[in-house]
Amino acid sequence: MTETTPRDHDAVVIGAGFSGLALLHHLREIGLDTIVVDGEDGIGGTWWVNRYPGVRTDSEFSYYSFSFSKEVREEWTWTQRYPAGAEVLDYLNFVADRLDLRKDIRLNTRVDSAVYDEDANLWTVNFADGTSVTTKYLISGMGVLSQAIYPDIPGIDTFTGEKYHTAHWPRTGVDLTGKKVGLIGLGASGIQIVPVIAPEVDEFFVFQRTPNFIVETNNDAVSPEEMQYVRENYDEIYAKAAAHPFGVAMEPAEFSALEVSPEKRRAIFESKWNEGGFHFANECFNDLATNHEASELGSEFIRSKIREIVKDPATAELLSPTTYSFNGKRVPTGHGYYNTFNLPHVHLVDTEAEPITEITEKGLKVGDTEYELDVIIFATGFDAMTGTLTNIDIRGRGGRTLRDKWLEDGLKSNLGINANGFPNFFMSLGPQTPYSNLVVPIQLGAQWLQRALKWAEENGVERFEATPESEDWWAAETERTGKSTVMYSEGKKAKAWFLGENVPGKPEEFQVYMGGGQVYQQHCREVEESGYRSLLATDSASAPEPARA
Ligand code: NAP
Repeated sequence: MTETTPRDHDAVVIGAGFSGLALLHHLREIGLDTIVVDGEDGIGGTWWVNRYPGVRTDSEFSYYSFSFSKEVREEWTWTQRYPAGAEVLDYLNFVADRLDLRKDIRLNTRVDSAVYDEDANLWTVNFADGTSVTTKYLISGMGVLSQAIYPDIPGIDTFTGEKYHTAHWPRTGVDLTGKKVGLIGLGASGIQIVPVIAPEVDEFFVFQRTPNFIVETNNDAVSPEEMQYVRENYDEIYAKAAAHPFGVAMEPAEFSALEVSPEKRRAIFESKWNEGGFHFANECFNDLATNHEASELGSEFIRSKIREIVKDPATAELLSPTTYSFNGKRVPTGHGYYNTFNLPHVHLVDTEAEPITEITEKGLKVGDTEYELDVIIFATGFDAMTGTLTNIDIRGRGGRTLRDKWLEDGLKSNLGINANGFPNFFMSLGPQTPYSNLVVPIQLGAQWLQRALKWAEENGVERFEATPESEDWWAAETERTGKSTVMYSEGKKAKAWFLGENVPGKPEEFQVYMGGGQVYQQHCREVEESGYRSLLATDSASAPEPARA
């Protein structure tokens, strides 16, 4: 080992959600003195912050959890197939306690900036309270959908009623009983909130700009037998999820929607619709995400379901997307969403035909019509993938921020894991990591980083930094694979966050890798087998001769 400057910690992880907990556990295992810092006053990350009514997972419990701890697997009991947010939060707290993680987690510790000192090869992490720590490795576990955005609607600050963003929902809850409520935003968050608050409120105005294709879930309780089965077969279930392009423990479909008769196609769609949730997206046909015609057939099936469920034909029509096809937006799961529009006090307002022009003291205006409201809920999404990372000053070599790098050079990373110019800085779920059930890449990524840093420590490699070639290759690969999917052609039309289209002024770039989680994992393995060549931009002199892949 080379002589090193004294430091407070070997590793600092930002964020105490799924990523932070997995990283803390795995980095501890290789003897790194690691702390996790988080600006909130509870652990759980996205599940601590997102407390809006109806929040729950979109993936099933069996693969929306860690597989690495035998104790956690055996002792934790899930109660619902798609667990509610509070249950996931309990799970994460259980994980923290069972793995004795809490003692190394510092809550209420918000990072303002992190600055790399090239001479000392150290990061100084500066906190909002004016304190700081030094560390060799800095790791972001800040989540990919954490930087909430409000719409740019004139008068937004003039509203005198209550207003809430789904991502900043008060911990004490909100009493909506008997109130006139307006909701702006119908992505996965808005869609979960609609059926849950509708029975409480007096009058509910749902302002819809772009309708979504929602797959209903048929959520159910987890029986003791099912829980036992999952406990006994966890490794197989997890391996199946890891081998699936979207990180779900499902059988990838084997044939095209175009190669079966209309009757057979309808029967397959129907059976997977009834199974619920992502089974429809993943198990019907193998080309709903890659072929426009196939995606349009899936779209038409969902439109037919909307017509079946929603009694008023005009409302059904309005709820049916026509300007883009299935998979053009991240598919949300529903829990009685469409049925909610049969309630007489729930009104769907089309803000595509006539936009919201203004938020007033009393409510909001669509065209010239003013809707008087007691509460406005914003479910208007996030500056996804990059927003959280560019919102704080992460300064690498030469004082250049990650924000400036991505603004000036375009979005570039080595497999979403690290970036050139930022030695010993790593990202869990950085931009250009797979579009997937995220627990899978979080766990596999933490284990990959564990092996990488162990290797670096054992081989006297002081700096891991992405080579420029690796970033160029991955940016091209992310674009190439993304553009071969309907997520590109349809996502552009639908202003999808995975293309950056939802944030005014954000360049159109694939924020995630669409080539499949299993392909991504293969690329990660190749980096490992090559002796981490693509991470040795500044330390190749001290590295051992890399093994050939
Ligand atoms: P989102 O999918 O980005 O949806 C934002 C919504 O706000 C859209 O309907 C958008 O309309 C609307 N909007 C934004 N600005 C507007 C404006 N100026 N006027 C009118 N409407 C406006 O955000 P999200 O629902 O929070 O979901 C983001 C992602 O978080 C999801 O895709 C998912 O990956 C994740 N998420 C996951 C879960 C889960 O797994 N359980 C739950 C919630 C969220 P347009 O479509 O017309 O732009």
